[in-house]
Amino acid sequence: MKYTLPPLPYAYDALEPFIDARTMEIHHTKHHAAYVEKLNAALGKHPEVAETPLEALLSDLTKVPEDIRTAVRNHGGGHLNHSMFWTMMASQGVLPPAPLVKALENTFGSMEKFKGLFANVALGHFGSGWAWLTLSKVEGLAIITTPNQDSPLMQGFAPLLGLDVWEHAYYLKYQNKRADYIENWWNIVNWGEVEKRYGLS
Ligand code: MN
Repeated sequence: MKYTLPPLPYAYDALEPFIDARTMEIHHTKHHAAYVEKLNAALGKHPEVAETPLEALLSDLTKVPEDIRTAVRNHGGGHLNHSMFWTMMASQGVLPPAPLVKALENTFGSMEKFKGLFANVALGHFGSGWAWLTLSKVEGLAIITTPNQDSPLMQGFAPLLGLDVWEHAYYLKYQNKRADYIENWWNIVNWGEVEKRYGLS
């Protein structure tokens, strides 16, 4: 299995003015492309695991040969996280369907409270990483962060919604103002995709 860079489901400028075209282009063609390339290079050394789905490898990294484990964690995680991230956004944003709103209200009190908690968690994450809305059997809906390109799958959580808080995701437009990036991001969240993942989990 050789991984390829998936095309964005929209144009680079589709998320303007919330995320600028230049950031999207660099993020996709440089950052994401590099994760794909380095993941393929690592898996090329171990054909015996190259056919195993990436989700399965990240869910149990002990199955990955030690000499490529860090590469699969970083670049495999990077590929999976970004492939999901692009689909989590849309130019107009998509409102959350009623069953998902109900579930979020049951867990967090209200949509506004959920957004506030998520934003605080994303803002408080130190350094590079991701903020996530996740689902697991034990914890139900939860907000977590992961460092670097770690996937929630590594902790047994199914990712429903993810926000990239690496500086490369927002620095050109927002510089140090991560809070503004997060606040604006809600305008372009594709809640239809979140609902789909919620239904499948
Ligand atoms: Mn990124």
